[in-house]
Amino acid sequence: MSNANAPKCPLRYGEPCTLCQPYVTGPEDCQTVALVMSDPELKAQWAKGYSAWARQRREERKKAHKAAEPTGAPASPPSQGLVTGMPASW
Ligand code: SF4
Repeated sequence: MSNANAPKCPLRYGEPCTLCQPYVTGPEDCQTVALVMSDPELKAQWAKGYSAWARQRREERKKAHKAAEPTGAPASPPSQGLVTGMPASW
């Protein structure tokens, strides 16, 4: 099962909210998130960690994308419409 629509924990980069704090329904009413985001020093530390995590994630995606690229394979022919063999003008 996918957790694509699960809310993400702002404090644990890329991780879903696991409702680890008592009485919370998600990140929107999490007191830990509110505390970090309302404190300038903690927020700056969070932002620094987030940018490092995002940079690493971008690099990993670039590597994965390059690894998935076909090497020397001929490009696929242009689409011929919904059904193979139909003229593209249909
Ligand atoms: S309850 Fe708060 S700290 Fe815990 S995972 Fe959810 S958003 Fe993050």
